[in-house]
Amino acid sequence: MTLLSKRLQAVYQMVDKDTRVADIGSDHAYLPVELIEEKICQFAIAGEVAPGPISRSKADVDKFGLSKQIDVRLGDGLAVIKPEDQIDTVVIAGMGGILIQNILTRATVDQLSNVKTLILQPNIGEPLVRHWLVENNFEIVDEDIVEEEHHVYEIIKANKVEQAKPLNSAQFLMGPVLMTKKTPTFIAKWQHKLNSYQKAVENMSHAKKIDQAKIDLMNQDIKYIEEIL
Ligand code: SAM
Repeated sequence: MTLLSKRLQAVYQMVDKDTRVADIGSDHAYLPVELIEEKICQFAIAGEVAPGPISRSKADVDKFGLSKQIDVRLGDGLAVIKPEDQIDTVVIAGMGGILIQNILTRATVDQLSNVKTLILQPNIGEPLVRHWLVENNFEIVDEDIVEEEHHVYEIIKANKVEQAKPLNSAQFLMGPVLMTKKTPTFIAKWQHKLNSYQKAVENMSHAKKIDQAKIDLMNQDIKYIEEIL
């Protein structure tokens, strides 16, 4: 029986077979456990900055008899990865986009040297994450969107390339792959956002002190969303 929530299952689905994975901010280590049990990957690091989850995860990994294939490591961000681990896939899930961007920005060349694939699941701030990817030559190759307990989550998979193709503003906002897939969850998310942006613009235009720059920015997003929907 899977330990994974619908959100983590969508992350799991993005991991390629026969990879060596570092799950950064692994908390309970459910994802590495599932990836190894299902023989999707050969070796996994469960990286975690908080000591509490580390001892629980170590106990779980031992209980499942997986301690040879899953190394539970205490550390900040990608500092848990060493070149000899030959990690080719890094997962960072369940954090805000600013924190994910910050963790990636602080990674050293050594820590990222073997990494071919990043699988990122920001809870908010997806455009920030897409900007980091393009600026650091990771090309977005797949995206998914799932709803769980009234929250919508996006999952972004990107591969290292020589030169990532630039994205336009609508693609940064809504996701280059999600925009083409246009699933019912994607349409519902952006229809809801469109309604709330339109209401916000309406309210802002009747305010005593009008912030025209903010209205213009919101109108720009409204235009992109209307075009895509
Ligand atoms: N990845 C799991 C998931 O998606 O269900 C757990 C997400 S949990 C909300 C975020 C975890 O990231 C927490 O356990 C937190 O301690 C950890 N974390 C936050 N900043 C971190 C960092 N700089 N390096 C490693 N782990 C970090």
